[in-house]
Amino acid sequence: MASKQEMREETERLIREAMERKSVTIKQGDTRIEAICGKCGAPNRVKAAMGQLRVPFTCKECGHKQKTL
Ligand SMILES: [Zn+2]
Repeated sequence: MASKQEMREETERLIREAMERKSVTIKQGDTRIEAICGKCGAPNRVKAAMGQLRVPFTCKECGHKQKTL
């Protein structure tokens, strides 16, 4: 029988793994592009349809409108 300590460690491990997976997982249907603003260099999360490469977005930091590369 697992101790409470072991169960807590297991839970933390699962959460950590889930978070790591989240950063690389591509959901079916749409993808998330990490786009760097060409003006101020801020990273922007841009949601794009599958296969769509040049997605228009507005920088959340400076409001500059552009397209992902
Ligand atoms: Zn910007």
